[in-house]
Amino acid sequence: MNIITHALVGWCAGQRLLADRRDMLLVTAGSLVPDLDGLGVLAGLVSPALGLDWFSRYHHALTHNLAAGVVAAVALGAVARDRLRTAAWVFVLFHLHLLCDVVGSRGPDGEQWPVPWLFPFSDRATLVWSGQWEVNAWPNMLLTVGLLVLFLKQARDQGFSVIWYLSARADAAFVATLRRRFPLPS
Ligand SMILES: [Zn+2]
Repeated sequence: MNIITHALVGWCAGQRLLADRRDMLLVTAGSLVPDLDGLGVLAGLVSPALGLDWFSRYHHALTHNLAAGVVAAVALGAVARDRLRTAAWVFVLFHLHLLCDVVGSRGPDGEQWPVPWLFPFSDRATLVWSGQWEVNAWPNMLLTVGLLVLFLKQARDQGFSVIWYLSARADAAFVATLRRRFPLPS
């Protein structure tokens, strides 16, 4: 699925599941870690052909697997305030990302995109679903819109959003605007 959708899943879950704001951000990062293997596309800045080659060769392989999930959980959990809880949720959200990709990441050209779960050790547990829909299909759009609504609701209800990490003042103004438009239930 789209990286924005994965980010919204991570943030909405992290804000509800963790008590500390640093841990919420770490869990959100855990939801995005699998797509690190798509960064090969940046090689396209040097050479468009190389970028395309690296993207198609490594995306949905290098970090879309169990080993990367374990590394992400240990690494992100190690720098968290609540280490065990953060590591556990990173592991879960990492796998939710994989599941979302198996369900809705078919290429625009109709190409099926499997997830090699035991890469690089074995190709036996390659996750693939024949009903996989395209990455820009309506279920993904609907899910993203639903998550955006949830993002706004949680910002209003909890009094902060992901903007807080960039600027506490801008975030306070954002939440105040939300609460004026959609007042908290009394
Ligand atoms: Zn992915």
